[in-house]
Amino acid sequence: MAHKELKGDRCPKCNGSGSVIADVGGFHAEVDCPDCAGTGLVNSPNACKKCKGSGSVIVDAGGFNVEATCEHCNGSGLEPL
Ligand SMILES: [Zn+2]
Ligand SMILES: [Zn+2]
Repeated sequence: MAHKELKGDRCPKCNGSGSVIADVGGFHAEVDCPDCAGTGLVNSPNACKKCKGSGSVIVDAGGFNVEATCEHCNGSGLEPL
């Protein structure tokens, strides 16, 4: 799910797809690429520094990890000017 406004180089780990196949407890599951936070891009000069351009962050909600909209960039994934 790459943002078209996001600049950068294609992530070599996921080949720009933004997701990789990981072994999760014996099952193969598609997860967000850890290197590019699911954006498919690395070395992005205008990516949000907090969410690395994904637009969402994982927050601890009383023992549970939930995905929430990144407040730094308001979910856009772009570093605010
Ligand atoms: Zn990647
Ligand atoms: Zn952000």
